[in-house]
Amino acid sequence: MECIFCKIIKKEIAADIVFENGKVLAFKDINPIAPVHILIVPKVHIPSVDHLGKKDGSLVSELILSAQKIAREQKIDKSGYRLIFNMGKDAGQTVDHLHLHLTGGKKLPWL
Ligand code: AMP
Ligand code: ZN
Repeated sequence: MECIFCKIIKKEIAADIVFENGKVLAFKDINPIAPVHILIVPKVHIPSVDHLGKKDGSLVSELILSAQKIAREQKIDKSGYRLIFNMGKDAGQTVDHLHLHLTGGKKLPWL
């Protein structure tokens, strides 16, 4: 069975997409914790940060540089933003498809 983010990538489930290229898709989080809360995901199914290897270096860079570009478009690059990868149970990862959270648009509390 395919995961929910793979279904969004295949456009089988609707999402509010803000950016897309050959490698990544970015869409608004359905349950935002900040005025700007966007998820950037690789188009290939990788379960988590723990499943990344050296060969994925360019993909990881693509995720982070996409977040930087979206932050500029959303006009939070001057005020600041936070990028988060949750991995596993203690971090509260709920979707087992690698995703980078881009959050900002307000002063973010630290844990
Ligand atoms: P994490 O806790 O790091 O696994 O984050 C998963 C995130 O995915 C949560 O912030 C959810 O609100 C978000 N999410 C789950 N389903 C969807 C969906 N269908 N569209 C957009 N965001 C989603
Ligand atoms: Zn997936």
